[in-house]
Amino acid sequence: MFPRAFDYHRARSLKEAAKMLSQLGEEAKLLAGGQSLIPLMKLRFANPKHLVDLNFIPRLSYIKGDKNELRFGALTRHSDIENSAAAAKIPILHDCAAGIADVQIRNRGTIGGSLAEADPSGDWAVVLSTLNTSLRCIGLKGERVIPLNEFITDAYTTVLANDEIVSEVLVRVPPKGSGGAYLAFKRAAPVYPTASAAVQVVLEDGVCKEAAIALACVGLTAIHPREAEAELSGKAIDEKTMDAAAEAARAAADPQQDMRGSAEYKRTLVAALVKRAIATAARRARGERVEVSHLYA
Ligand SMILES: Cc1cc2nc3c(=O)[nH]c(=O)nc-3n(C[C@H](O)[C@H](O)[C@H](O)COP(=O)(O)OP(=O)(O)OC[C@H]3O[C@@H](n4cnc5c(N)ncnc54)[C@H](O)[C@@H]3O)c2cc1C
Repeated sequence: MFPRAFDYHRARSLKEAAKMLSQLGEEAKLLAGGQSLIPLMKLRFANPKHLVDLNFIPRLSYIKGDKNELRFGALTRHSDIENSAAAAKIPILHDCAAGIADVQIRNRGTIGGSLAEADPSGDWAVVLSTLNTSLRCIGLKGERVIPLNEFITDAYTTVLANDEIVSEVLVRVPPKGSGGAYLAFKRAAPVYPTASAAVQVVLEDGVCKEAAIALACVGLTAIHPREAEAELSGKAIDEKTMDAAAEAARAAADPQQDMRGSAEYKRTLVAALVKRAIATAARRARGERVEVSHLYA
């Protein structure tokens, strides 16, 4: 199906884009990679009267950083992150970027667009929620930096005002002794996962000092199973603690039955993903180089 007719506007700066959004009102949408918006427009689930294209704004795609923080321009493509040596220093970022859909979508889709879309099945929001992440947002009233856990308020809902644009994603580099892993179970590459789990741990003298776990596709929004994190904190990571954390994650999951499987199947699946992700995160925290990729049915 073709999208409904719309006017196309090419912004040359973030300020100009914010001005356009303000003047055009609620009927206007930003266009980044178009990998969520254009399919929705073709299905006529989204019918914006105006598209404001961010793709011609200079210096909106980059990966920069120092030993404390990595900064991603909002227009940085998933594939840029997949192939970035700087991003690979936080292995969970590579796990995420390399597993999103297929190569065509990764070449167009952007980190800023993925977070702004706030799709509860999207990979970036769940992964970045296990790290210390914030978003720099620019609007006509100026600039603000919003922690990710305050940015997304519900499925497909963020705190962005109508004239605000995500300009940069800021990720704190985890402390020494950290390791993380992201695993998703998929039926095929260009579909969203059936279930996924992101885990980030900090180990000190073999004991888990901090743990962050996030689950996607097993609830209406991402789930942070605090009981599962508590099963790891202050303990050595071994079969017993991993099983306890996986069991707690299974209990916290709240999946719906759909064409991808029954609720019980997804609970079992997410528990297994959590256990494997913890094992990989712990090995990485101990300094091992471990490659992982998404699991396919
Ligand atoms: C077949 C298919 C499979 C996919 N599979 C996956 C998957 O497995 N995992 C996954 O995570 N994603 C998946 N995606 C989505 C893909 O990752 C998208 O790239 C991403 O969700 C949106 O990024 P985008 O740059 O394409 O945004 P767009 O589609 O251009 O925009 C999405 C929304 O965000 C707004 N927006 C965009 N940029 C900004 C900004 N800087 N500031 C404020 N608002 C902004 C837009 O106005 C729009 O409302 C899939 C997409 C397709 C088509």
